[in-house]
Amino acid sequence: MKRIARLLGLACAGLTFPAAAQVSSRWPIHSMDRPRPAVVAPGPTARPDAPPADAVVLFDGTDLSQWEADSGPARWRVDSGYMEIVGGTGSIHTTRGFGDCQLHVEWMAPLPPQGEGQERGNSGVYLMSRYEVQVLDSYDNATYADGQAAAVYGQHPPLVNASRPPGVWQSYDIVFHRPRFNARGKVLRPARLTVVHNGIVVQDNVELSGPTAHQRQPPYTAHADALPLLLQDHGNPVRYRNIWVRSIGESTP
Ligand code: MG
Repeated sequence: MKRIARLLGLACAGLTFPAAAQVSSRWPIHSMDRPRPAVVAPGPTARPDAPPADAVVLFDGTDLSQWEADSGPARWRVDSGYMEIVGGTGSIHTTRGFGDCQLHVEWMAPLPPQGEGQERGNSGVYLMSRYEVQVLDSYDNATYADGQAAAVYGQHPPLVNASRPPGVWQSYDIVFHRPRFNARGKVLRPARLTVVHNGIVVQDNVELSGPTAHQRQPPYTAHADALPLLLQDHGNPVRYRNIWVRSIGESTP
């Protein structure tokens, strides 16, 4: 076993590393020919779960005190228990940073739907401001598989399409392990993500090749152990509510 681990570059005594369940394919990034994940209808929408006792509540429906934009205060609209993107005001990020974490986010695509493909209900949840889990209205809206809702953008399509219709609340529960770097900035261990979309596993401990980007798969660059969570302004009035996060420390995946 040790020899095999060493051959794999994982020669850490006593530690084993599960292989990524979703093996990355040889499809070109954003290929429209790549088969799209099967549609699976989730169960009916439940009322939002209250955050657990040790969670950091990032948005409880009342204010944006935990958020800011690059240029100053967050200027998304807060109304009746949700926040709504005001296109052009910029992406917003948390005032504090997070590393390994469990994150709960609820979001809703605009109704009536407007635009097609990537222009319909586009936003994104960026772990560490770098690694995007796509937010998109993927209900009866074809786009490239690695860019639909719950994709690790440009890297991993979701296992299935668990989207609810626009105008209905959806949830992401994300388990994230940040990448590890040595003192010289070399990647010791890539980032990993698990995503449950509306109660359905859609990313199963996938390994990220680096930061997510449009039409590119850039390599890792070393960064801090904790960085802000970011929500993307892609110009569409997507809504968010009930956002909370729990740090899960330095556990080995
Ligand atoms: Mg996006």
